Amino acid sequence: MINLRPSLHCPTCNVEEDICHIVIQCSKYTTERNKLFDIAHKELIASFRFEDIIFTGKDKVLECLTELVKRYECN
Ligand SMILES: [Zn+2]
Repeated sequence: MINLRPSLHCPTCNVEEDICHIVIQCSKYTTERNKLFDIAHKELIASFRFEDIIFTGKDKVLECLTELVKRYECN
């Protein structure tokens, strides 16, 4: 589903860059993440986890996730 370049380093945060970092932590994607989390709060259970976002079957959540990942791929 999501193609990640293997074992990258995030120059913004100075940590290892994996999908979890990009979706949950990286400060480069705050705008996209706020939108994603907002939708996730509405679409998923209140205490959703990272896995719930990544493996969701909800179209709206997937849409926001795709937006965030696209932003990553354009960098
Ligand atoms: Zn980062």
